[in-house]
Amino acid sequence: MPESLHRELLETAAQVRGLLQDLQTLGIDEVPCADIPPELPPCAPGVVGMDRGGESPCRQETLEEIRAELENCRRCDLCKGRRNIVFGVGDPHARVVFVGEAPGREEDEKGEPFVGEAGRLLDRILFAMGLRREEVYICNVLKCRPPGNRDPGPEEIEACEPYLKRQLAAIRPRLIVTLGRFAAQSLLRDGTPIGRLRGTWREYEGIPLMPTYHPAYLLRNPVCKREAWEDIKEVMKRLREGEGRE
Ligand code: URA
Repeated sequence: MPESLHRELLETAAQVRGLLQDLQTLGIDEVPCADIPPELPPCAPGVVGMDRGGESPCRQETLEEIRAELENCRRCDLCKGRRNIVFGVGDPHARVVFVGEAPGREEDEKGEPFVGEAGRLLDRILFAMGLRREEVYICNVLKCRPPGNRDPGPEEIEACEPYLKRQLAAIRPRLIVTLGRFAAQSLLRDGTPIGRLRGTWREYEGIPLMPTYHPAYLLRNPVCKREAWEDIKEVMKRLREGEGRE
């Protein structure tokens, strides 16, 4: 067997083992994926707003246009240490957007969000929801890695958050799930600690938003996985009921 395939099989086996352990910790003996309708109607592409005169519809910018604007971004000092801008991945018409904090080392290397250990946990959460990465959209508040994985600074959030907001405006998801305190606090403009923000539906620009714990926090505090799972079940319920539909 080629070594790369062998490695891939080992990695898959480790992920399946991790998933089973998570499900066991969460007390789940059934994966409720079949309940979620696989296809909700996509968001109306293109026309979503009015021009300045309020007369004619104007075209919503695309994710690619926003990404192009970020190319070679030097709006804050994080540009000095980054290897790649981590813009976001997934379905540009996703029903659900997951918003994390900032890229870590592996994300910076690959230019993709949530590809490290926390990302593997996020993948398992998605799996338990009956969703694949390609069916959702995943991005961060910051698009560049803070050195040493330190917390994002307020001036960095201020410089970068407008791009997150534009991404959300371009996607117009039916639901947003924020992962960790920075995403929730900055989108909601609410400094309440994540332990109190999580688990309660809020709204961002008319879109239902569920704050939950960050997967990296869950890796360090596995006892909180049960609460996170309660939050995720709320998200699944909304998806099932179609309550987040436009
Ligand atoms: N943590 C985050 O918040 N985002 C990533 O992309 C990776 C880790």
